[in-house]
Amino acid sequence: MLHQPNLTVNAAGHLALGGVDTVALAEKYGTPLYVLDEDMIRSRMGLYKTAMTACLPAGSRPLYASKAMCCKALCRAAMEEGMGLDTVSAGELYTALAAGFPPSGICCHGNAKTDEELRYAIQSRVGCIVADGEQELARIDRLCGQMGLRQSVLLRVTPGIDPHTFAAVNTGVVDVKFGVPVPTGQALAVTGAALKMPHIDLEGFHCHIGSQIFDAGPFRLEVDVMLSFLDSVRRAYGYTAGVLNLGGGFAVPYEPGESAPDCGGMIRQVGEHLAALCRQYDYPAPAVMMEPGRGIVAAAGITLYTVQNVKTVPGGSTYAAVDGGMGDNPRYALYRARHSAVLASRAGEPEDCAVTIAGRCCESGDLIGENVPLHMPQAGDILAVLVTGAYTYSMASNYNRVPRPPVVALRGGQDRLIVRRETLQDVAALDL
Ligand SMILES: *Cc1c(COP(=O)(O)O)cnc(C)c1O
Repeated sequence: MLHQPNLTVNAAGHLALGGVDTVALAEKYGTPLYVLDEDMIRSRMGLYKTAMTACLPAGSRPLYASKAMCCKALCRAAMEEGMGLDTVSAGELYTALAAGFPPSGICCHGNAKTDEELRYAIQSRVGCIVADGEQELARIDRLCGQMGLRQSVLLRVTPGIDPHTFAAVNTGVVDVKFGVPVPTGQALAVTGAALKMPHIDLEGFHCHIGSQIFDAGPFRLEVDVMLSFLDSVRRAYGYTAGVLNLGGGFAVPYEPGESAPDCGGMIRQVGEHLAALCRQYDYPAPAVMMEPGRGIVAAAGITLYTVQNVKTVPGGSTYAAVDGGMGDNPRYALYRARHSAVLASRAGEPEDCAVTIAGRCCESGDLIGENVPLHMPQAGDILAVLVTGAYTYSMASNYNRVPRPPVVALRGGQDRLIVRRETLQDVAALDL
């Protein structure tokens, strides 16, 4: 079922994305093929930008979490739409800089940054590095001293909130690989250490509570914990934070039953709650950063495959084997993430069976989905898997030495290639 407003069935009975015939795209570029509705991506970027500018303190800004889908064209779109950018590796930082993204708008994450990556970020004059703990703060400070440069940093803390139970939980949720726990008192102690380091400027704090957050509740709880923490930092050290980064995690509906969250409304509620707490604590309102990734790109993307074989196991499942799979979309294999799908070449036909979409790799776990409602596929059909804009291309691999698919962006009804298809030569290019 088509639950995205940018998906329609055209007069030929084909699936159209942003008005463009997907079967024609499959013919032009081949399959598998990632297709992104760039108009939708830009309008999502604009929505976060507008809501955060209107509802949050001065200087507040969304940063696109580029790990969701990182390539030069998307970095340029984020730049043109006035967003900042998150990177989590030298590779993502290199991509952003190569796209012309201003370094001052880049925020560098990661829980295991190497000295080489830190030097690259500092030397590039990135706006901010999010330090994962005391050892990394000390390393950034030492590298800055050696390089004769200063660096703005945020300290990543774990507030201890489970976004799916809407509860502040002190254990379990802080026992994670990211950040320094607030509830144990460690975040307060590490802040004291950071404030003594001579070559870094602690601008404030970062936290990220999870993904697929459908309403403002968990973010409000995050603001509760963080304002109370900021207040205790001020009481302990007389330090006032200028920046509060609340992370990403805006949800996206993957299946027809789920409805899209009202992100603008969520941001407005966060702003109202923050303003009330700043009054309560008499705390100067910090600039707020938020880091949507999935919320910007997921629903704008589809993946097109060609069905190669169809078989039904008597008393078992119907399998449609496609020319891609976990190599271009590992989400089902990794997390049992569910995607809906439609036969792009016969999109007007009823969903009259449940089909297991099998990938081409030599792994029985290489599936895109099990018992996905579909019209009965035939070999040669073009199959579209929906809501694949986030965490697919960025997680793709060359398992079984399958070349990675290209990415096509649609803007104003025009298609253009933004990442070319890997060739067989590319696949063996690093072998000596
Ligand atoms: C993954 C991540 C994001 C983006 O999460 P989404 O669910 O894609 O919005 C933002 N910030 C940090 C620190 C992350 O690790």
